[in-house]
Parts: sequence; C-alpha cells; structure tokens
Amino acid sequence: DNIDQDEELVERFKSSSALLRNSWAYFTQRSRAVSEFNAAAPISDEFTAAVGRLLPTMLHILRSPGNQATGIATELLNRLEGLAVPRELESHVDAMVMHGRLILELSPELDATLKQLLSFESAARVDALRTAYLGHHGRVQDRAERHRFLLYAVSLLLFVYLGYLFYRLRASAEALTRLNEGLVQEISERRQAEQKTRELQAQLAHTDRLSLMGEMASGLAHELNQPLTAIRLYAKGCARRLHSGEGTRAEVLAAMDRLSAEVLRAGEIVGWIRGFVRKKEPRTMSVDMNGLIREAIDLLSHELREQHIKVNLDLSRRLPRVEADKIEIQQIILNLTRNGMEAMAEVGSRSGDMTIATSKAENGTIEVAIHDAGPGMSPEVLARAFDSFFTTKSNGMGLGLSICRSMIEAHGGRLWAASKVGEGTTFHFTLPTAMEEHRDDVERNGLCHR
Ligand code: ADP
Repeated sequence: DNIDQDEELVERFKSSSALLRNSWAYFTQRSRAVSEFNAAAPISDEFTAAVGRLLPTMLHILRSPGNQATGIATELLNRLEGLAVPRELESHVDAMVMHGRLILELSPELDATLKQLLSFESAARVDALRTAYLGHHGRVQDRAERHRFLLYAVSLLLFVYLGYLFYRLRASAEALTRLNEGLVQEISERRQAEQKTRELQAQLAHTDRLSLMGEMASGLAHELNQPLTAIRLYAKGCARRLHSGEGTRAEVLAAMDRLSAEVLRAGEIVGWIRGFVRKKEPRTMSVDMNGLIREAIDLLSHELREQHIKVNLDLSRRLPRVEADKIEIQQIILNLTRNGMEAMAEVGSRSGDMTIATSKAENGTIEVAIHDAGPGMSPEVLARAFDSFFTTKSNGMGLGLSICRSMIEAHGGRLWAASKVGEGTTFHFTLPTAMEEHRDDVERNGLCHR
C-alpha cells in the first residue's frame, strides 16, 4: 500500500511539476513580449507598474510557495486583467493572467506533494543511505589518504633499498672484476706451469730414450755390424774379381747391387738411431702399429737371440692405423719389451716366449698386449709400478713405466698391466685410431661410438 501510495504521489508530483514548468515558460515568454511592447510604447503607469512587479513576485512564489506573496500576485493579476490594453497585446496579457493563476494554484500543491514525498519512509531511508554513503565515502577518503601516505613512505624505503642494492651490486661487480683478474693471472700461471711440466716430461722422455739407447747400444752395434761386414765382404769379392779378371760382368753387378742394399740397411739403422735420440717436439702422423712392432723387434733381435728369447707376433691383419708420434710409440714398445726381457732374464726363464699381440678394441681404439714369461709382479709392486722413481732393480731409474703411461695418455689412450707372481706379466695399451679409419669403421658397420 505504501509503495502504491508513494508511486501515486510521485506521478502527481511529476505531472504537476511538468504543468508548472510549462506555465512558467508561457508566463515568462508572454511577460517578456508584454514588457518589450510596453517599453516601446508605454500604455499607462499603472500597467507598467503591474507588469514590472508581477515577474519578481511570481519568481518569489516559485521559490517559497504559500506566503503572503500569493495574495499580492493574485491582486496584480486581477488588476492586469481589468486594464484596457491595445488589441495586439490582448492575447499575451490573457495568457499571462491564465498561466499566472495556474502557477499560483500549482506551486503550493506541488510544494505540499514534495513535502509529503520527503516525509515518507523510503525517502527517510534514502536519506539515511545517503548519509551513510557520505560517511563511508569520507572514511574511504581518509583511508585512501593514509594509504597514499603509506605508499609514499614505502616508495621512499624502496628507493633507499634499491640504492643500497645498487651500491652492493657495484661493490660485488668490482670484487668480481678483481677476482677475475686474479683468476686470469692464476690461469696464465697455471698454463705456464703446465707448459713447464710438458717440457719437463719431454726432457724426461728424452733422457729415458737416451738411457734406452745406452742399454741397447751393444745390440745395435751388432745390428750395424752385420750390414757393414756384408758390405766389406761384397766389396772385397768385387775387387778380387776385377783384379783377377775372373767372374762375369753380370756377377760383379749383382754383387754391387747386394752391397748397396746392405749400405741402405746400415743407413736405415743409423737414421733410426739419430731420429730416436734427437730431441724434438712431438709430431703425430698416421702410423701402422704392426710395422712399428716388427721394426722394434728387429732392433732388439740381437739381444733377444743372446737371451734365447723368442717373440711370437700375433698381429691383427686388418688393424686400423693410429694417429700418433712414431718415435714415442716405438719408445713405449721398446721399453715394455725390454722390461719383459729383463724380467725373464731375472729368472733365467727359457721355458716361455714373449708374445706381442695387436687387436681392434672398442670405441675406435686398437689394443697392444705385450706378454712375458717373467716372474710376474706381487700386488704391492703392481700397485706402484707406474709411480715415478719406483724400481726394484739395482740399476733401474724407475721412470720407464711412468713416462710410457704419460705418453700414452697424451695420445688419448690407456696403459695398464695385468700380472700374477709365477704367471708372467702382460702390459696392455690402447690408442685411438686415426680419424679417417674411425669414420670408415662407423660407416661400414653403422656404428656410432660414444
Ligand atoms: P725400471 O725398469 O727402471 O725399474 P720401470 O718404470 O720400467 O723402471 O719399472 C718399474 C718397476 O716395475 C720395475 O723396477 C719392476 O719392478 C716392475 N716391472 C716392470 N716391468 C715388469 C715386468 N715385465 N715384469 C715384472 N716386473 C716389472
């Protein structure tokens, strides 16, 4: 019921308000026309006074309806209606009077309706809501203000913290730069030390080769003696034939050919010795391991014969070539073979032979195994055999195995020994095959070694 009543009142208010606005528009429009006409050609003083007072009086009524101004306005309207006016003004004055009376009638009613509307519960509620909203708005504003202040404070703190962080970062960067400089220096020092170690190793390897040469000297002299003797004999034979006039020209030429072959052989041995003892930078090339082993055994053949040691060669026929320093690998083979020979001499072993075997191993490597029938090594000796300066021999230097291992590792291979007392010793080493060989192998077998 209340809502219906409210709605009805609102509707009434709206229509009265529209009517009032309409009448007020007419009234002002007509009163302006009347005033302008009167200003141009004044009708009478009474008319002028009535028109001049009417508009402000009506305005006053509109602002605060129901006061004594209503009486004055009614009287003014009556007076205006009674006055005689020119014909052109009649309709204007009539309209003014009519709408003026309507305004006098409508404005108190509208005022009453409005007051009634405002006194309703919903209006009170709206008012309460508005007050509450305003209160809330005020609080929100206060809070926003506080937050703004907090935000400023936090921003300031953040700014200070950022400054501090920046300062720390700069300090760290400087420390890092200093550290880096130190590191660079350390690296260069380490490189120098490594270079020195390499040089030392090369020096040691060279010394080892010289001592190996010393040990092999008598055997080599004998090796060299053979072609020299042959050369002497062939030369003598040729001279005798030429002096005596015996022998055909073809026989002499054949003897001369054999003589030059022996010269070549002697030259090869001398060349090998010179190459072997010369101090030089390591130089890698594609090497045939089987050929290298045969060459080493040839050089040791005299000593082997003297010690009655037979070396069995079990060489793989399809062994890939390796990328290696020929002289160093030969030094390793000679070292390991001579160690075996010395071990066999130690026990006066005649029972067994030595065996040197080659084979293709995993991951693109080849393996060489040198087995002797010596006394073998106890676990304690085996554990230390590769240490520098470890020797069980009275005249040993204890450097051979450690040098061999570092040379093999520099080639990317491994060197190890398997030995048992009473069963002899086998030294194994691996070497990576030359890149070409390895690629061929991968293509042929579809293998990819990692
Ligand atoms: P050196 O021969 O001067 O002693 P190496 O480094 O060549 O130095 O050898 C170290 C030690 O390892 C030898 O003294 C020996 O005790 C042991 N050794 C090396 N090869 C053999 C082998 N084939 N049989 C038994 N022992 C060996």
